[in-house]
Amino acid sequence: MSLPTQLIEGFARFREKHFTKDDVLFRELVEQGQTPRTMVVACCDARVDPALVLDCAPGDLFVIRNVANLVPPAENQGHYHGTSAALEFGVRKLNVGHIIVLGHAHCGGIHALLEGDVQKGDAFISEWMGIADTARERVSREFADTDNAARHRACEQQAILVSLDNLMTFSWIRERVEQGTLALHGWYFDIERGELLGYNAATRQFEVL
Ligand SMILES: [Zn+2]
Repeated sequence: MSLPTQLIEGFARFREKHFTKDDVLFRELVEQGQTPRTMVVACCDARVDPALVLDCAPGDLFVIRNVANLVPPAENQGHYHGTSAALEFGVRKLNVGHIIVLGHAHCGGIHALLEGDVQKGDAFISEWMGIADTARERVSREFADTDNAARHRACEQQAILVSLDNLMTFSWIRERVEQGTLALHGWYFDIERGELLGYNAATRQFEVL
């Protein structure tokens, strides 16, 4: 298989931009370390890179990406917890002030959860998606009569709320939220309409930001 030359050319352009004499960004990021104010939990989906979608520079965002942007509940049973470890680092070491759970339209993970079409023999995806099972149940109860597209959208948004609830099961997140030093946000990137929506706890709706 040949090298992905498009990516190497891309790095050359990136290097030209950020590693010239008069660009100090990376010099500062190396000398001072990273000090992102915001952590984003986003999906692995190739279309929803948070730094691109939110037009951020290197150093702006601490990003966790996993299938369907899910946050598992706090637990420690001696397994490997990549998402929880990254949360711990971002909150306890970097002291981020905001955590955004960034869901999106047409999410393949949520599709698999709703349609049960995870490939036979998959070792990890269906168990991982089990985190969002309460979202699936809620949607099949409350959106039973709506069409597929509306059910999927509802489930994508409900799964964000499940993740927000799960964030609060980590004691060091709950403490900071209660002290007012950390804010949690549920955002939804509609890749079809080109809109960014945020969850409004007062109206219990996702509204255009
Ligand atoms: Zn997704």
